[in-house]
Amino acid sequence: MKLQINKDNIQISSITRNKLDVENIYIPVFNTNLVNFNYNDYVYKEETIFDNKFSSISGNLKNFKILVDENNKEITTLRIENDYKEKLKFRHGNKKYINKYTKEEILSHIKNYVDDKFAKNLNCENLFISCIDLDPYEANELFYLKDHTEKILETIDALIDIFNIKEAHILISSKESDVISKTLNMLGTYPKIHLKIVEYFYPLGNDIVLKKFLNKNNSCILKASFLFNLYYALKRKAKVTEKYITITGNLVENPKVINVKIGCLISEALKNNIKIKDNTNYICIANGVMSGNIVDINKLIVTNNLRSIIIEKYEEKKEYECINCGECLNVCPLNLNPKLRKKECIKCGLCSYMCPSNINLLKEEK
Ligand code: SF4
Ligand code: SF4
Repeated sequence: MKLQINKDNIQISSITRNKLDVENIYIPVFNTNLVNFNYNDYVYKEETIFDNKFSSISGNLKNFKILVDENNKEITTLRIENDYKEKLKFRHGNKKYINKYTKEEILSHIKNYVDDKFAKNLNCENLFISCIDLDPYEANELFYLKDHTEKILETIDALIDIFNIKEAHILISSKESDVISKTLNMLGTYPKIHLKIVEYFYPLGNDIVLKKFLNKNNSCILKASFLFNLYYALKRKAKVTEKYITITGNLVENPKVINVKIGCLISEALKNNIKIKDNTNYICIANGVMSGNIVDINKLIVTNNLRSIIIEKYEEKKEYECINCGECLNVCPLNLNPKLRKKECIKCGLCSYMCPSNINLLKEEK
């Protein structure tokens, strides 16, 4: 069963807004004993401070502070006060051509500056670039393609050359006509890159479901955001210090995708940027309506894993006894039994969404 989730009632603004002038950023610290610093020590933008953690601003190290991550889990963070100078310690020259790298150099750039879990499977025949977001109400991947079409195409083209990939396909939902025509207009000079327009169903944005749907051996799936970050790494030998977050929900008057500093307080990024229709009785959900978590919006920081904030009216849902209707079994995209905890579960939340008794079948798995 393929579930169509209607998102037409929420129209996300077609422009990405920047919110980069934040007062502080907060770096998660797993063991405060291992962090050596003096109050007011200076850090540069992009400088690695400890444990591979880097600063997205330049400024002075201050104090530890307990905040929360996208799972609403308390984390200790180290505060850096912004001096708004965006000072860099090293200025690497811009590389003119990104297709002159060797395979090994690309893999080491991915490992050092992007995400090393993708470093191995680029030796493939078919490359798929997914612009399908994980949650039906998110639009980050789509906006990465929309805002950075040229850079993303250039990066795909470089990977095709360097890894001897046969062809690449950009996957996009048939509903996104503006982005489809913009991309099509620019594809002319890239004969090995194609657009693959797909009928969206949830949870197509999940890599396991997408791989099953594509049914292609010897292939590699990458996200549009990954390619944008890789472009930056190859051009500037540095990590991207900002990311896209979708802000939406029934109570948001002006849903949008915002570009924010990694490590900032999301409440600061939302101030003067988002209008809430009724701010007396609402909840904030991080990372989607289908499988996200209710979070304390005043303490939430932008981590690498945060994708979206959904602001909705709080409604208490009473849970009833299971009536053995089997809906949760029918809807599972991986044909699992949601009532038995399975390690293959991708936590898409469809079983809970469909359950007429409002049972949260994801509860114990979190
Ligand atoms: S959908 Fe809900 S009520 Fe139906 S079998 Fe599954 S858990 Fe029970
Ligand atoms: S068990 Fe539920 S949450 Fe897990 S994959 Fe199946 S439908 Fe999704």
